[in-house]
Amino acid sequence: MSARKSFRPLAVMVVGAVLNVCASGLAHPQQKIKSAQHPRAIALIHALVIPSPASDAIADATIVIRDGKVVSIRQSGSIPPGSECIDCTGDTVLAGFWNSHVHFTEPIWQDAATAPAERVEAGLTKMFTRFGFTHVFDTGSDIKVSAALRKRVANGEVTGPEIRTAGAIIYPRNGAAKMLNASEHRDVAGAPLRTPTQPELDLSLYEAETPEQAKRLVANRLNSGSDAIKLYLQAWWDPAIQLPAPVIAAAIAAAHKEHKLVLAHPSNSYGLQSAAALGVDVLLHTTPQTEPWSTTLIEQLKHNGTSITPTLKLWRFELTRAGAPAEVVDAFQEAGVQQLRAWHRAGGSILFGTDVGYMPEADPAEEYRLMQKAGMGFRDILRSLTTEPARKYTGNAANGAIQTGKKADITVIQGNPNKDGADLNRVALVIAGGNVVYQSARK
Ligand SMILES: [Zn+2]
Repeated sequence: MSARKSFRPLAVMVVGAVLNVCASGLAHPQQKIKSAQHPRAIALIHALVIPSPASDAIADATIVIRDGKVVSIRQSGSIPPGSECIDCTGDTVLAGFWNSHVHFTEPIWQDAATAPAERVEAGLTKMFTRFGFTHVFDTGSDIKVSAALRKRVANGEVTGPEIRTAGAIIYPRNGAAKMLNASEHRDVAGAPLRTPTQPELDLSLYEAETPEQAKRLVANRLNSGSDAIKLYLQAWWDPAIQLPAPVIAAAIAAAHKEHKLVLAHPSNSYGLQSAAALGVDVLLHTTPQTEPWSTTLIEQLKHNGTSITPTLKLWRFELTRAGAPAEVVDAFQEAGVQQLRAWHRAGGSILFGTDVGYMPEADPAEEYRLMQKAGMGFRDILRSLTTEPARKYTGNAANGAIQTGKKADITVIQGNPNKDGADLNRVALVIAGGNVVYQSARK
């Protein structure tokens, strides 16, 4: 707050009016307030609040948070005595964001179960919370790593986003070895890496060639604690490497029997068409390497209730890394934008996701820009960041809104993204489960 005071004398006067009830020590830059350890309430004051993509904005609102939950949201509402007040003048307060496509396969996560909490927190901040993500869906990693992270956040040992994970990916025959073993794909494996102490991987743990194998692997994933199943429908480097339709169908049936969702990596036309025909729950990428998405394809996906995670920024990353000329990179990315445009226009379900962890760049700004280019407005993008993933992954869209009595997952953006375009990466403050997990130096 001291930085804010020196920049904004007007705001200080406004804060002064409520200081009689706020605790004298206002939140310090970078200071973490854990509500579980501080029975005092946190009060966000003078906030422009947009509780959900469908609701009206509330000007000059006060949000009170206690015991990890939102206690009240009121215009010029009262503040419980002794609250930690955080002045949000000039900021917009939104529900915490979801990144629905991430991975924990980078080397820094390999000792996630035992690494010091500060190091884990620093990694989670760098990748997620500094950009406003209070929930992430890991779409393919070593379950030992992601389950350890999920547990350490859930039990309060480290502060960070709530984590869900698909565990290790299920590949077609001859599909896993390249992804798991090749040194050039060490950072992209989406499953345990080969190490000196583990010279040979048992590929039967990763590849399904028959429906029986698919059923066995789905059971293995769910027994290991996966929250969903991830299928790699087709290899990008060899279109002939495919999960056969009966294998995909068996995996979907086995997952759905246990009320778990199936996330799918399409790669190419076969993967895309199979995802649509067989009814996966989430298609994890657009497919710029295929034809534009036809009305028939879109209707089939919609009919099955499939959601799309576009990952548009990824296409620039992939082609640039492969050495493609700039105009080829642009055209490829644009093909993905056009697919999203068609899907959005048709009213399809969209879950924001970047593939960070596979892609080292964590900043979501480019993804927001490309979603806008595809015709999505601020509230459409906000829906893909909040209520839509909450509906898909928790069964209740309200879990992605700011509501009295609900868990306090809140992302505060500098300025007004509703007016200034989707500048949603200017994050000022992030609260996850009632704990302040990130504050920009400005606050
Ligand atoms: Zn991925």
